Amino acid sequence: MQNWNFARHGLHELQGIISFLQQEGLLTTVKTAVNRVHEMAGIAKKLEGANALLFENVIPEIAPIFTGLYWNRDVLARLFQSNPEQLPFLMADVIEQWQQNPITPIIQESGSANEVIYTGDIDLMKILPIPTQGLEEGGPYLTSSVVIAKDPETGIRNTSIHRFMVTGPDRLTMQLDMGRHLRDYYERAEKMGKPLEITINNGVSPAVHIAAVTPSNAAMINEDELGIASTILGEPLSLIQSQTVDVEGIADAQYIIEGKILPEIREWEGPAAEVTDYYAKKDHRWVVQVTAITRRTHPIFHTIIPGREVYNAVGLMAEASIFRNVSLLVPSVQAVFLTYGGCGFYHAVIQIKKNNEGVQKNAILAAFASFPSLKRVTVVDEDVNIYDPVDVEWALATRHDPVKDVIIIPEAIGHELNPMTLGGTVNKIGIDATAPYPRPQKFHRIQLQQIDLDKYEIK
Ligand code: MN
Repeated sequence: MQNWNFARHGLHELQGIISFLQQEGLLTTVKTAVNRVHEMAGIAKKLEGANALLFENVIPEIAPIFTGLYWNRDVLARLFQSNPEQLPFLMADVIEQWQQNPITPIIQESGSANEVIYTGDIDLMKILPIPTQGLEEGGPYLTSSVVIAKDPETGIRNTSIHRFMVTGPDRLTMQLDMGRHLRDYYERAEKMGKPLEITINNGVSPAVHIAAVTPSNAAMINEDELGIASTILGEPLSLIQSQTVDVEGIADAQYIIEGKILPEIREWEGPAAEVTDYYAKKDHRWVVQVTAITRRTHPIFHTIIPGREVYNAVGLMAEASIFRNVSLLVPSVQAVFLTYGGCGFYHAVIQIKKNNEGVQKNAILAAFASFPSLKRVTVVDEDVNIYDPVDVEWALATRHDPVKDVIIIPEAIGHELNPMTLGGTVNKIGIDATAPYPRPQKFHRIQLQQIDLDKYEIK
């Protein structure tokens, strides 16, 4: 068990994170004036996967924009004072600690996030520099904002991330995916004829972000996953009371949008650039009436661009959860990676230390059962680097028989955003790329002497 102290290291707010990245040489600053419409995302795509980015000068001049915090696992690992291979295990450990010892958040009246308050005459696009990213997107989008709501019956808090499109000065449309707890809250509120009050928190610490993307099989509907943030902060998370709704906001956020998801009303939303690298099509979706906006005196707007950043931002917690579940059932499982090519969502590579023939097939079945979005699971031995697609392909080339080593699962529950999912189901494939057990001599991989390069003078 390990302890994290994000708060003590100033990592409880974006300002602290940005200065940490700056000190460590992990931040790239864009000085040139950049339009929030298309241009910002275009530049970010060119610089994807390396340092995080701060756009200091965004047109129109409202606030800087920060992006790229989640697109490089090396950077994320530095925040946790760890290494990228350890990150999924750290996340599994965070969930474990939270479940054993949940720390209740503190609620206060005011904090950084409500230094400036707008309750009348609200105009989203004058207060926040909300970017439009994909060329065909239907409007400006909030892509990384954390939504807090309360169960209309039990009052238990839920925290999750949803996309919001700006449709008017005080109006948004949003996506409420099937199976998400917020959708469940909303549908019960709607049946009572009531709106569902929410806060939309922009610019939060990874401690809060990680809590929000914890999969529902790791944080059940009767659990307040915001507690996970306290575990990472190393102290109780601070929340603040809202001006117009009975739901709290994150005290250290950059902006908080207060509002309610209206019952029975649907309006146009989309097209939206999604995690699949496709546009979610324009459709009638849920509507948020904004009732107040609060912000810091000097806020920094946070966004996530489609691609690697989303894969890590979601994939890491999914890996942690798959690892926890699968290793309980199949203890020989060593590690899990959700590949970038699989959108951090659909393709898992599982590393196993075989102790029986057939255990690799059980690992495939357990993985599919524990994370319904998975479409392909590949199992490799402990001598294969699951983070290196070339190494995984080597295992497929030399340890996989396409006739014998495949499990096809027709029409199982899938992820609705994937265009291959039809009527909620998708066909799935499990691929066994492990050597036979016990391992015959011909499957012994070449080993070379272990070397510490620092001991050599090499020019
Ligand atoms: Mn939840």
